[in-house]
Parts: sequence; C-alpha cells; structure tokens
Amino acid sequence: MSTLQKPPRAASPAERSTFAAEALKLGGKSEEEVRRMGAVDAADDQVEALYAARYQTVNSPVHRAVWDDQFPVDLFHFDSVASPSESAAQTMDEAIHVAHRHVQLGTLLDEHRKIRQPVLDDLAATGYWGLLIGPEYGGRGATFTQFAKFLTRMATVDPTLAGLASVHGCIGAVDPLLTFGNADQKRRLLPRLASGEKLSAFALTEPCAGSDLTALRTVAVRDGDDYLITGEKLFITNVLPGRMIGVVCRIDGRPAGLIAELPDHETDEFRLKRYSLYALQHAHNYGILFNNFRVPAENLLEAEDGDGLTIAYHGLNRGRVALCANAAGTMRAMLMDILPWARFRRTYGEPIMSRELVQRRAGELAGLIVACDALTEWCAGLLDLGYRGEMECVIAKIFGSEAQKHAAIELHMKTHGGRSFLGGHLFGDNVHDLLAPCIYEGEGEMLGLAFFKSLVKDHGRRYFEPIGKTLQATGIRRPNLANPAHLWTLREPLWNYSKWRFGKMLHTGRPRFQDLAPALWPHAEWSAGFLQDAAIEVSATMRKHQLKLADRQCRMAELSKRIQTAVVILCTSLYAGSQSDERIRKAGELLARRLTAELTGRRPSDAYLRAVTELGAELADHDLPGTSDILERPILMPYDAEAGT
Ligand SMILES: Cc1cc2nc3c(=O)[nH]c(=O)nc-3n(C[C@H](O)[C@H](O)[C@H](O)COP(=O)(O)OP(=O)(O)OC[C@H]3O[C@@H](n4cnc5c(N)ncnc54)[C@H](O)[C@@H]3O)c2cc1C
Repeated sequence: MSTLQKPPRAASPAERSTFAAEALKLGGKSEEEVRRMGAVDAADDQVEALYAARYQTVNSPVHRAVWDDQFPVDLFHFDSVASPSESAAQTMDEAIHVAHRHVQLGTLLDEHRKIRQPVLDDLAATGYWGLLIGPEYGGRGATFTQFAKFLTRMATVDPTLAGLASVHGCIGAVDPLLTFGNADQKRRLLPRLASGEKLSAFALTEPCAGSDLTALRTVAVRDGDDYLITGEKLFITNVLPGRMIGVVCRIDGRPAGLIAELPDHETDEFRLKRYSLYALQHAHNYGILFNNFRVPAENLLEAEDGDGLTIAYHGLNRGRVALCANAAGTMRAMLMDILPWARFRRTYGEPIMSRELVQRRAGELAGLIVACDALTEWCAGLLDLGYRGEMECVIAKIFGSEAQKHAAIELHMKTHGGRSFLGGHLFGDNVHDLLAPCIYEGEGEMLGLAFFKSLVKDHGRRYFEPIGKTLQATGIRRPNLANPAHLWTLREPLWNYSKWRFGKMLHTGRPRFQDLAPALWPHAEWSAGFLQDAAIEVSATMRKHQLKLADRQCRMAELSKRIQTAVVILCTSLYAGSQSDERIRKAGELLARRLTAELTGRRPSDAYLRAVTELGAELADHDLPGTSDILERPILMPYDAEAGT
C-alpha cells in the first residue's frame, strides 16, 4: 500500500507509552495493569506510525469532526465509486451464480451442515478467493470498496459464503501478506491464496486472551531456519488441516505474525480442538493446539516499527467493514422474508402487512439497511484512500452488528410470530449466526471504549499530559487551583488549555449541507453540529475524571455511543442524499430522524410514524434495490388463507 509510510514522529511509541504508564501509576493502577495497558498503547502507536500523517487517526474524518475548527465535509461521503474491472465483475457475477445454484440444488451444505468443499472449489474456479489480490499474483485486483459492496450482494444469497470471503481476504492470510509481506512471501504464498488452492484463517484469540490481547501465551521459538510454535488458539473460523493461517504469537516476548501452512492431517504438533459451537454453524470453527509446530522463519511477517498486533489490527479494520457489509445483505434477506409472509398472513380478516406495526418494522428495517450501506461505502472508501480509519471502521462494526441483532429480534422474529422458531425458518435456523457479530472481531462495548480512547488520545497528550508532567516534575500530588503556588506552577499548560477551550466555545462556524435534498440536509447539519459540540463535553469529561477516566467505563461508553450515533446520522443522510431511488432516500431520512430523536430524548412524532409506515407499505409492493439476487423462501406451515372467511 503506497500510503503506508513512516511519518516524522515527535516521540517514539515506547517513550510515549512510558509516560502513559507513569500517568496510570499515578491513577492508582497495579504494576501489571500498567504494563499491559502500556503495551496496548504502544501497539496502537505502532499502527499509527505505519500511516503517512494525513491518514493517521488525528486526521481521520471523525477525529477532525470533533476536534478541528474546519469540519471535513468532503470526507464523510464519496460521490463516485469506480466499477470493478471486467474480470472482477465477471468473478462476482459467476460467484453469485455458483451460490444460487448450490442453494437451489440443496448442495450447499454437507451432512454436518458445513459449506461443502465442492462449493468452495466452484467459487475458486470463478476467482472468488482472489478478489482482493492483484492480477500479478493471479487475483482480480478489486478495490476494497468494490469487494465490500459485493459482500453485501453475496450475503443476500448466503451470509456464510460472504463471511468466508472476509475471513480469507481481510483477517486471514491475504491482507497480512498484501500489506506486510515481503516480495518473496508475496510471490510464494499469494498465488495459492488467490486461486483458492489454500483458504485461510486468522488465529489470534486464545482461551486466556480475547478482549485482552496482552495476555497472549502462544510462543514461537527459533530453531535453525524455522520457528516452533507452542500454544492454544480458540474460536478460529475457517481453520482445517491443509489451510494457510495467520498466527499471532509471542517471539522473544513480543507479539509477532507468522504465516503457517497447516499439514493435510492432524499430527502430534498440530491438532484441532473440537467443541459444540452454535454460531457460524455452516463454517468450521475450532481451537488449535500447537506443540512445537514448525513454520519456516521466512514466513515471519515484519511490520516495520510494529509487531503482530499491528498486523492483526490492520486486517481487523477491514474485517469490521466487511461485517457491516454482510449485515446489509443479511438484513435485505430478512426484509424479503418478512414481506411475502406479511402479505399472506391475515389476522382479524386483514393481511398483517396492512397494519401499522408491521409496516413500521419494514420501514425501519429499510433504514437500517441503508445506514449499513452508507457506512460500508464510506469506511471502505476511506481505507481505499489510505486512511487508517480505525474509529470509522469501529462505528461500522458496532452499528452493523447491533442493527442486525435488532432487526433479527425486533423486526424479523416478531413479525413471523411462532413460525420464527420452526426448523427451516431464516431466524430460527440462524439465530446464533445473527447475534454472534456483536462479539467476534471485538465485542461492541469494548470497541466503543477503544473508539473513545482513540478520540481523546491526542487531546489528552496536547492539553492534559503537560499538566500531569508538570505535576510529576514538581512533586505536586494533589493540585489545588486555589493555591497560588500551584496555579503559578501550572500556568503554562493551563493557559494553553484555556485558549483551546475558549476558542472552541467561541467557534460558531457550522458546516452547511444545503445541496442535499430538503428532507436530508437538516439531519446532516444537526449531526455535524453535534459532533463539533461534542469536543467541549468530551474534554470536560476528561477534566472531571482525569486519571480515573479509564475506570469510568460507563461514562465513556455512553459518550462514545452518542458520538457514534451522530456519525451514523451524518453518513446515512449524505449517502441517502446521493441516491436516485426514492425509497432509499426516504429510508435513510427516516433512520436519521429516529436516531436524532433517540439522541435528543424526544418521542417519535406522528409525522415520523406516518412516514415510516407509509414506507413499509410501499416496500410491500416495490422491492428495495439490492434485493434481486435473493431467492424466495417458502412460507412455513401455509394454509388456505381464504377458507373460512
Ligand atoms: C463465532 C465466532 C467466531 C470467531 N472467529 C475468530 C477467528 O476467526 N479468529 C480469532 O482469533 N478469534 C475469533 N473469535 C473470537 C472473538 O474475536 C472473541 O470471542 C472476542 O474478541 C471476545 O473475546 P472473548 O470471547 O475471550 O471475551 P472475553 O475477553 O472473555 O470478554 C468477555 C466480555 O467481558 C467484558 N470485558 C472483558 N474485558 C473487559 C474490560 N477490561 N472492561 C470491561 N469489560 C470487559 C466484555 O463485555 C467482553 O465481551 C470468534 C468468536 C466467535 C464467537
């Protein structure tokens, strides 16, 4: 990636994390916690250092929207998305055709209800597994935006197939090799990943290390030209003998990334640990037991200035956008499952589709779909431009997974009533798959805290660290601003902070979005204003809790969620405004209205309820764009609807 380059840095990650660690000690943390949080901080700094300055977090759209005086209007929506190349487009069409064929013939799943090997092979023949890999290595060279939008399409046919493409291309071996592999590693390994000869997985989580990646225990030690890996991995999607997996383990105490080619059968050095797992039921997901498992040293990935977590974070960013894209497709399938049923099912003499409650659900579901489309296109566009985009991808992941969970339970399940729980029902058969995205690739609330940390990091360094450093240097443990000596000691950092704060309070310039449709620009302007105003509130929260802020998780989570919601409103409004289809525009606008009401604590207005039910009723007769690949599902337990009436 040409945009990955080393920017000039003021202080090394190690230096910065030393200060962060000192600050945490002052905040009363244990030595162990300080060490681990310092390590996480350093890993994050190392990821930052991979990007040129203009693509780092402080210059990302969300960070700038909150802290900068100039609102980065142009970075919240990209007008044109380039079409895939002819070969990539052909692969995409053929892959959809393969998926359709196997679904229709009933040959998608084997006797264990896992995707059958011939399906994976047929997809390989289309070039599916090489979509993200350049033609020089036998791939199709799709941009990430093209890939992510295609995943939405594939998820409308089968979400597991879309998910496997993401595991292979984003978090598995493909992205680490594309981004961090040297010329030799790319030449040796990418062609086999592109052709689908090797499918890949990503082994990060361990029994003792999921949310807390500083607790990783798997180690690799050098033995001649090899590394020997020993340890246990857990929950690894798509792992099977013969696959090529990215393993994060410790080498000389530091996290590292190794590409391991698994043997074709289990051995004393490599075994799978099988368990009963309901989620991702059609994919293989196992634990891995390594015991001096040999990997050539030439397969060690070298992240300049970084380590194994740097590599993991890079792929996870993409995986999180892919997850949102998958949710957009899965929710389309839910919508297209709701509508025929709601037209068929009559209660009290009328089809339930004619009732407001059901119409509202369809209208609301369309809004969630449009928001996921908007976030997918926006985040993928940022990644294609070269942005780190970590905060933005976290928003897409949290919103996508929560929207899918809400849609599954509140909209899909409730509308289908008891039939939701029948075997063969989209909800009943897949309930765990529909909920699990809230957990994998980072549990949502934990990610929300990480989002908040990224948001406040630079502000803390600029304005609060100098105060902390001065206090540390002068030995003042309990600063008291009523004490003239303390005030004098702190005069410089306090003056800098006051200048920032008053400047921000006096700043009145608001971004204007009046080129948007009249129904949409007020939402865009309101949410942009919300983000600008959030700086004062976030800063006041930092001031109030100071070094204890890390322990005020509930406050951080609450603030984080509101900021994320404002971003969703803004992106959805801008995206909807750029669409020609009236239902998409309407769905986006209504989603923005509902989220705004949530943020301001207002009840939904009668006008909103009328509009959302009207949209739902319209969807019963006119399909939402992007649903044409969906295969019709039978109505379960049908009956003669006219008889007896
Ligand atoms: C279906 C599925 C597929 C998966 N696929 C993969 C894969 O392919 N590769 C891979 O490496 N991993 C995979 N995972 C693992 C997944 O990423 C982890 O489950 C996830 O990151 C959470 O880790 P954990 O389960 O260990 O949760 P834990 O670390 O045990 O945390 C449990 C919960 O405790 C709370 N919590 C934890 N720490 C804190 C804290 N400091 N403060 C406040 N609350 C806290 C959070 O709510 C958290 O969700 C998969 C998981 C599932 C379910």
